[in-house]
Amino acid sequence: MSQDRQIQISVPSLGEAEWQAMREPIESGWVTQGPKVAAFEAAFAELHGVTEAVATTSGTTALHLALAALGISPGDEVIVPSFTWIATANVVLYCGATPVFVDVDPVTFNIDVTSLRSALTPKTRAVIPVHLFGLCADMDAVREALPAGVAIVEDAACAAGASYRGQAAGSMGEFGCFSFHPRKTITTGEGGMLITQDAALAETARQLRNHGAEVPDAVREHGPRPYLIADYESLGFNYRMTDMQGAMGLVQLAKLNGFIEERARWASWYRTELSGLDWLRTPAEPEAGRHAWQAFVCSVDPASAPLPRNALMDGLQKRGISTRPGTHAVHLQGYYAKRFGLAPKDLPNSLAADQNSLALPMHNCMSEEDYAYVVAILREIAG
Ligand SMILES: *Cc1c(COP(=O)(O)O)cnc(C)c1O
Repeated sequence: MSQDRQIQISVPSLGEAEWQAMREPIESGWVTQGPKVAAFEAAFAELHGVTEAVATTSGTTALHLALAALGISPGDEVIVPSFTWIATANVVLYCGATPVFVDVDPVTFNIDVTSLRSALTPKTRAVIPVHLFGLCADMDAVREALPAGVAIVEDAACAAGASYRGQAAGSMGEFGCFSFHPRKTITTGEGGMLITQDAALAETARQLRNHGAEVPDAVREHGPRPYLIADYESLGFNYRMTDMQGAMGLVQLAKLNGFIEERARWASWYRTELSGLDWLRTPAEPEAGRHAWQAFVCSVDPASAPLPRNALMDGLQKRGISTRPGTHAVHLQGYYAKRFGLAPKDLPNSLAADQNSLALPMHNCMSEEDYAYVVAILREIAG
């Protein structure tokens, strides 16, 4: 096999259709949030079985908007799994609230409900279950664990197109938040989406996305007048998506099912091919639902692996195969560890996932030869 094959961990699948779609806003001159964003929102809502979708500038700003719309503020606690992307916790701090870290299940990498239960206090206002790598958290168990009045904001950044027991990712809490960063399955460069079934919450999120702008009562009563501009009754942001991104998102969204199907086939192939490596645990399949396969994240057993995980990753890199840890444990990051006095062992499964997880290349620009090469080199390095 060729020694100079280069396989990236993730490559966005973009082409002529995305290029052409972006011509229209550019040629019409309507480049900020407009008809393309509106169409993208409508299509995204429909695909996820909800009535409301609000496009944003990123997954992070979608999460921030969700918490802001719920009124999360200083003194409130928001429960967050440690093994996630740092943005899940950062948005809690943006609201002046306190992130309370809980552990994850070692097999699914998703929020551990026992840990969640023990973190609840009278100050708990919300929990952010993360559908990590495209696998939905156990939402029935999460819901059962929560007292009335605690909101659920799903971090579905990796989970566009995923489902849990017949319900779409993002449709099971007060809000679901998605990302269109190029590391996710579909992309708009940067970008995000907030979905909800609650029209009033959606309206609040739309206002906050646009500096807090509200339609004045006079406009509601008498219609638009040149001198009637928006009212501002709350502190908002500018989290509006551009219409170029909306146009690109529409094209990408139409490809989402195909992307997931292709990834699911290769995930199944990887699982079979790698089953002989008993020190490597391949990712869990959902019991009832659809995995969106944003990433294929394995776990290296430090006790039985022929090489430490990092040496394995170095070895793969030398052969042109890029890998990454699944993600990081946020409680290990200096800012959080220092500010909240957190020790690595406080959340042992998140620590282990941080140290032992291994994402193998999986995306929609990989060939059959690429997949075969990854497996062959992994087997070879493992001796
Ligand atoms: C990517 C990601 C985010 C942030 O999304 P951006 O669009 O990069 O801001 C948040 N949470 C999780 C779990 C993610 O994977």
